[in-house]
Amino acid sequence: MQIFVEEEALSYSLTREVITKYPYQVISSYQDFKWEGLPDEALLTLGKRRLFLLNFKGEFIKSCPGTKNYLCCGYIIFHIGEGCPLDCSYCILQSYLNRPGLKVWGNLLEEGFPSLVHFLREREKKKTFTRVGTGEFTDSLALESITGISEKLINFWYEEDPFAVLELKTKVAPSEDFFIKLKATPKVIFAWSVNTERVIKEEEKGTASLDARLKSALMASKQGFSVAFHFDPLIYYEEADREYPQVLEKILSLIPTRNIAWISFGTLRFPKALKEIAQKRFPKSKIYSYEFIEGLDLKMRYFIDVRKKIYRSLAHYVKAFQREVTFYFCMESPRIWEEVLEVPIKYNEELRELLDQAGKRLCYS
Ligand code: SF4
Repeated sequence: MQIFVEEEALSYSLTREVITKYPYQVISSYQDFKWEGLPDEALLTLGKRRLFLLNFKGEFIKSCPGTKNYLCCGYIIFHIGEGCPLDCSYCILQSYLNRPGLKVWGNLLEEGFPSLVHFLREREKKKTFTRVGTGEFTDSLALESITGISEKLINFWYEEDPFAVLELKTKVAPSEDFFIKLKATPKVIFAWSVNTERVIKEEEKGTASLDARLKSALMASKQGFSVAFHFDPLIYYEEADREYPQVLEKILSLIPTRNIAWISFGTLRFPKALKEIAQKRFPKSKIYSYEFIEGLDLKMRYFIDVRKKIYRSLAHYVKAFQREVTFYFCMESPRIWEEVLEVPIKYNEELRELLDQAGKRLCYS
């Protein structure tokens, strides 16, 4: 990994922590950085081995972008950086981010953390429960050995005990040593995006195997953290409706349900522009050869019958475990809730309430 530091970010403490451990080069700014004259797809690949420590001037706290016309859970993003060293063929970051590289905010501790503290305190004054996550524009743990950001957040949650849960979403599988050294609290949720072994092998380059993710989840839960699982994206293929339920069954038989914060399901969806770049970067990927329609949010997704077929294959386990575990659909229509689970979730507020209740149970039961 090559590390580049913006001049303006040199004096910040996170930058200093990283550059005392690793060799680095100073650059005047990320904007002026001279990339090789390569096509976009090659630059995206090259960028996965280049870490930039920047002086971030945007908003550290964001509402999850959600998606228009589908139900959104009201998640709050603590924006720690952009880009991911892992390489999934369906990753929407390939089309969202118009400049390559792994970007970490050098000023996160001096400016980002205080924004988060202020935001949580204001919500707490209004007795509003908050679900915070860092894994929207990056993987929460893939750069942890270099930056230590998640450990700092966990320490904050442990010591300050906010009226909030922190979800760290990942596709890597930390070892027991990693969890043992952390201050465990059920208010911190280690969340794994899961998929079938076939999809992991074919479409999620550089990520941990399913078994390694589940082993890690078991260690996290034994250590006293909460865990969560996101079947996202569910990808349709001939054996999908047999293999996805096997993954869900494995999770439910391995992980004590009292430690599971929630399990979500979301079928593949992507902005139109993704297909072209992803097909150039992953010519062997089969996922874009299927038929898609443009959804109400202008993203491409499977026809509703295909989505229902995949979700229905999982419904048996959902119904059997719904008293013990909170399940939800991510960015789906009320029609899916009703027709697959016979649950009338029609408004964003109802989905938010469902997940807030699940979060509060972890904290106060
Ligand atoms: S792990 Fe997530 S952020 Fe990283 S490449 Fe895969 S989809 Fe993108």
